[in-house]
Amino acid sequence: MEQTVLIVEDEERIAHWIQAYFEKEGYKTIMAQDGDTGLYLARTKYPDLVILDLMLPGMNGTELCKELRHESDVPIIMVTARSEESDRITGLELGADDYIVKPFSPGELVARAKAVLRRVEGNVRQAKILQGGNIELNLTDHTCSVEGESVKLSKIQFALLEVLMRNPGRAMTREQLLDGAFSDDLDVLDRTIDVHIRRLRRQVEANPANPRYIVTVFGIGYKFVT
Ligand code: CA
Repeated sequence: MEQTVLIVEDEERIAHWIQAYFEKEGYKTIMAQDGDTGLYLARTKYPDLVILDLMLPGMNGTELCKELRHESDVPIIMVTARSEESDRITGLELGADDYIVKPFSPGELVARAKAVLRRVEGNVRQAKILQGGNIELNLTDHTCSVEGESVKLSKIQFALLEVLMRNPGRAMTREQLLDGAFSDDLDVLDRTIDVHIRRLRRQVEANPANPRYIVTVFGIGYKFVT
């Protein structure tokens, strides 16, 4: 799948030079010339990687990095004009994944970008299986198995189980389950949590009448017990 790189750089010449290299390597690029636009594009376009210049008009690179890190795990490579140790440390402390000092060769930047993306993909792959007791939820291919036996779940059942399993031992209110499981693109007629929980239990519980995993918390909602 094509990956998107957001390039936040106010110097047009450098920005285009970086853009040309990434596009030559098969990446899609989006551009911002100031920090505020960069933040807006990161929030709305979900890039796979952000190349972030440190010195920017408006919101500068460090502020933007801090803000982005606060709300997403998108990998960030900081570009700094100076080689001082303090800049490097600031960038990494703020959660940048790597940094590169100007002047650099575009080939070097692309190589760093590939390394960061590979590392992130590795992490994601590892994190993409949720396990709780004998239930295994594979978030990559959307499959579920109970005690090694594959179990068929509807989209909404899968989404509900995912929310529960991401919060093991925590009592989740019906509202939290609604928020977590029902996305706008999910077409569900019945938005009653209890109905879906009942169906979900029939799929994953050995004894749905006396559930072992998806337990009712009276007055609150449900929780996943491992
Ligand atoms: Ca700059």
